Amino acid sequence: MNFFRNFSTDSCETTPSSLFWADFEDEGVQNGLSSLKRAENEDEGGVNRAVVLEKGGKRGREGGRTGEKVYLCGGMKTQVQIEVPGGAQKVLLHACCAPCSSAIVECLIERGIRPVIFYANSNIFPREEYDHRLNECLRYAKKWGIEIVDDVYDHSAWRQCATGLEAEPERGKRCLECFKQRLLRAAQYAAQNGFTVLTTTLASSRWKDLQQVDEAGRWACEQVSGVTWWAQNWRKGGLQERRNQIIKEENFYNQLFCGCEFSRH
Ligand code: SF4
Repeated sequence: MNFFRNFSTDSCETTPSSLFWADFEDEGVQNGLSSLKRAENEDEGGVNRAVVLEKGGKRGREGGRTGEKVYLCGGMKTQVQIEVPGGAQKVLLHACCAPCSSAIVECLIERGIRPVIFYANSNIFPREEYDHRLNECLRYAKKWGIEIVDDVYDHSAWRQCATGLEAEPERGKRCLECFKQRLLRAAQYAAQNGFTVLTTTLASSRWKDLQQVDEAGRWACEQVSGVTWWAQNWRKGGLQERRNQIIKEENFYNQLFCGCEFSRH
């Protein structure tokens, strides 16, 4: 039985970033900014570009383990620095909705990483609401030309993880179980499909508890083999502001409740 729906969105309207290799040591720069500027000047393409600085004894302003790639921004819309665990290029991005995905997807693509979106949100009720949010995700994925996988919708199964926790407030115990259930689905899909890194858009919302999301993500990846949890703080580096801009630019449906029936007030 096929549990997933795959959507290939190949009508990309936006050219992906070009990558430039910049060498701190050759340039003798203090903090990398000169390298970024030089690379930008060489680019005759659009404004979206990434500079990849390979760590390994060369002078750089950012941390990171020797030998790992550190992505810095140049001419980008956000100033966040990301470091993909293991330097992986194949990233599975669990997405809860288009508004929460917006700045994260843009950030990743600007830095040369094209995530596959995994939409696992059986918490959302009713089904019409689920489809509405999915369609907004599809619209945004199509803009970037990235793949999106729709997990099976099974709200009855999700209700089991919420049993006895119906009266919990948001950010309470029910939410931790909810995150675990959805991220476990994502981790299982990642393990079965050759993804070594998993992260989520869940923590981009200020209504969510970062620690709960992180705990659930780590737990989910521990249940499978070969998948590393990427605990990036997706609110920093201007991502929150950029998210608000994109919501307006794209005229996204921006829901007023989290998703489950217990979050409707
Ligand atoms: S309030 Fe949101 S995070 Fe919490 S259980 Fe409901 S859908 Fe899940």
